[in-house]
Amino acid sequence: MSATILTIGDELLIGQVNDTNAGWLARGLAALGLRVRQLVTVADDLAEIDSALGQAIKSSSVVVMTGGLGPTADDITREAIARHIGTPLRYHADAWQIVEQYFTRSGRAVPTTCEHLAQVPRGFEPLANPEGTAPGLWCAGETAIAVLPGVPREMKTMFRNEVAPRLRTLYSKGTVVHRTLCTAGLGETAIQQRLRKESYLFGQDLTLAYLPRPGQVRLRITATTARAARRLPDVERHLRSVLGAYVYGQDGDSLAGVVGAMLRRRHMTIATAESCTGGLVAHVLTNIPGASDYVVGAVVAYANMAKQQLLDVARSDLATHGAVSAEVAETMAHAARDRFSASVGVAITGIAGPGGGSVDKPVGTTWIACALAGTCEVKSYRFGATRESNKVRSTVAALDLVRRMLLKNAT
Ligand code: ATP
Ligand code: MG
Repeated sequence: MSATILTIGDELLIGQVNDTNAGWLARGLAALGLRVRQLVTVADDLAEIDSALGQAIKSSSVVVMTGGLGPTADDITREAIARHIGTPLRYHADAWQIVEQYFTRSGRAVPTTCEHLAQVPRGFEPLANPEGTAPGLWCAGETAIAVLPGVPREMKTMFRNEVAPRLRTLYSKGTVVHRTLCTAGLGETAIQQRLRKESYLFGQDLTLAYLPRPGQVRLRITATTARAARRLPDVERHLRSVLGAYVYGQDGDSLAGVVGAMLRRRHMTIATAESCTGGLVAHVLTNIPGASDYVVGAVVAYANMAKQQLLDVARSDLATHGAVSAEVAETMAHAARDRFSASVGVAITGIAGPGGGSVDKPVGTTWIACALAGTCEVKSYRFGATRESNKVRSTVAALDLVRRMLLKNAT
């Protein structure tokens, strides 16, 4: 079963807004076992939407559209669909109720400018929008069509509550199963090298894809037949055994989430001392809901003076070894742990670039230390030349070092 995602909006085509809807929906549709064939983006233009919709319907069993459903004059998706099917829009009582409910919640009457949101193309049913004004649209014809708002929050809620269940009912027999293993600490070439003897496991109906991002690689195993789906768990187990502790999680897991869960299970806490990452490690740790159970605090000590005053780094160490050194990283990790009375202290000091490198310590040189239960591990890394990527790679490496030490200290 194939799907096309059609996102609508001038703002997407001029690069003012990144098309995050398409990626999110692609994941959602793939999880339902649909093969997404195309991501198409068109302008807020009747003729363009009309023609893109026509193409999508021809080539796919499912079309999911987002954008242009709202009340303003530039929102013309409803009209474009009506034009495509060749019938005028009609008032739909359920659509009116959805619009009315939205305004009733805030004690208002439906403004006249929103009345036309209750207009629905023939053959379509309206979909509830608990997060906004405009109802979505659904039609389960030969090609199923779902029309969702452009605002990502509204789109996601409507997809989860209304569209996914309908698609599941329609296509419950499709067999596309994905399992993604999340790894950290090895590049994709290194992983490929380790898995070279395993290539016999894969073929047409069971495939392996490498999805690298800074510091991490996700390995997606996809089964497209029932037989392959039955083999998938064994293949997954096999890959896990070859890659060992490089695998930190699966599917939607994040490194910060996995580290957080380990800390929570052990009733442990963490504090960070960060230089070149500028607080990014604390940021990703606290992006996880419930992080207050284990994150105690963070110090961003960027200048040498801050490292001395806040993290007990000795002036002599700075003079002898430099701010980017094993000695300084280790002191910072201990200080983070002690100052916050945390179980784990993790510290990062590095040269993010583009300036500041030398022959001895080129841009990308980074030291990371993790202090835990009387031990401290210090590791050096040579990341690349790009500042932002170095910050992300340092953050991934720091969290991974914490994870590795927690694994070793399993209690
Ligand atoms: P509204 O009721 O807010 O007008 P709408 O369904 O008409 O909703 P649009 O007007 O197309 O949606 O988009 C509203 C906003 O949603 C845009 O300004 C943009 O910030 C965001 N948005 C739209 N499409 C996308 C997309 N594909 N990816 C990410 N964000 C998007
Ligand atoms: Mg709009």
